[in-house]
Amino acid sequence: MPKRVHLTFDNGPHPVVTPYVLDVLQRYDLHATFFVLGKHLDTPEGFALAEQIRDAGHQLGNHSYSHEIPLGEDTRPNAVDAELQRTQTLLDKIWTGPRYFRPFGGGGHLGPHLLSTQSVSWLVEHQFTCVLWNSVPGDWKDPDGWLEKALLDIEQQDETVIVLHDILPDAMRQLDTFLQTLLHGGCLFTTEFPTSITPILKGRRQLSLPNFVNLS
Ligand SMILES: [Zn+2]
Repeated sequence: MPKRVHLTFDNGPHPVVTPYVLDVLQRYDLHATFFVLGKHLDTPEGFALAEQIRDAGHQLGNHSYSHEIPLGEDTRPNAVDAELQRTQTLLDKIWTGPRYFRPFGGGGHLGPHLLSTQSVSWLVEHQFTCVLWNSVPGDWKDPDGWLEKALLDIEQQDETVIVLHDILPDAMRQLDTFLQTLLHGGCLFTTEFPTSITPILKGRRQLSLPNFVNLS
């Protein structure tokens, strides 16, 4: 069985790095999902970049507005409006595909800090798929070494959803080499997410969901 790989790029769009990443992906005719920040979409330049991402055939998802406090730790009463709804209102202008949300947790750690009960209600009500990950090679702290870690993760799993960041010029210089290595190794690239990393699927709560929600 070929290894399946799903590429995701978080925290953009970025005026320099996102176009670079789009170029590299196009070189190999590969598609990815970009989890964008509302604060970037809220600028004319960022909005236009998100349109470019969509027009190149990639998927877009919501990754919060400010990316400051993980939702499970965000005690502001208006956190869902300020982070989720505000971003989705911008995304809805350009993205009519499936609604994706990816929480963030500082360093890619999985746990109950990722979601609040209020955010879960909102995601369910609006039929979102909540997209986690199973590979965080740390491109932000190791611009060269992430590639080895990512390849190891892919080798050890049948299906890998990898988190990269299209805001890191140094790390993304490795992207071409990374993709070439995977293609030579016979990996299959997919834009479908395995249900093992989607605790909410099209608005339906999955069994794993309580692991990622702060109930206090
Ligand atoms: Zn992020």
